[in-house]
Amino acid sequence: MLELQPPHAARRIALHACCAPCTTAIAECLLHNGIRPTIFFFNPNIHPEQEYRLRKRECKHYAERLGLDFVDADYDHQAWRAAIAGLEEQPERRARCLRCFEVRLLGTAQFAAKQGLGVFATTLAASRWKRIEQVQQAGLLAQQQVAGTTFWAQNWRKGGLQARREQLIEELGIYNQNYCGCEFSQHPQPNPDKADKQGRPTSEWHQSKTD
Ligand code: SF4
Repeated sequence: MLELQPPHAARRIALHACCAPCTTAIAECLLHNGIRPTIFFFNPNIHPEQEYRLRKRECKHYAERLGLDFVDADYDHQAWRAAIAGLEEQPERRARCLRCFEVRLLGTAQFAAKQGLGVFATTLAASRWKRIEQVQQAGLLAQQQVAGTTFWAQNWRKGGLQARREQLIEELGIYNQNYCGCEFSQHPQPNPDKADKQGRPTSEWHQSKTD
């Protein structure tokens, strides 16, 4: 399995979890490396609330299965809407998503500082549907905003974790959502910069999801 080298050789970290599928292989790999994550579920972006509760329940079950602490953070979707105000019409993987990551990772950094964990990471970068550079940018901003924290900018798509993720989802029958999370992603639109004349995503767009 992938050998990890966390910042400051941390043995305990705060792990922001966006959902159970993205948490599976990462949490397992951390434990295999002797690193104990506290699972921090902070996702006020998810809509509707019923979907939020479903994703949270799945993530909590998985954390319990591994014997990990699971922290259920606030769900204030109206506050999230206020944070992304003016960016509602943005396509996925653009400014709205960066702001969404900033909100969630700032909350995670604040939680890490409060718990004295110091190092924090996120499962957001595990998803091929998200731009890894946006996740890393948001993590580094949160690190700057919260004294005493370090963002662990690990690329969780490497080292066989993608394949292990799929295997665990299948084996454990974990609910795997078909949209990112907010109301604006429930009917995904192709990125206009990467769509053909009929509006279909091009192969380049699909390729970009592997970055
Ligand atoms: S599409 Fe996903 S990352 Fe982007 S704003 Fe919506 S929930 Fe957040």
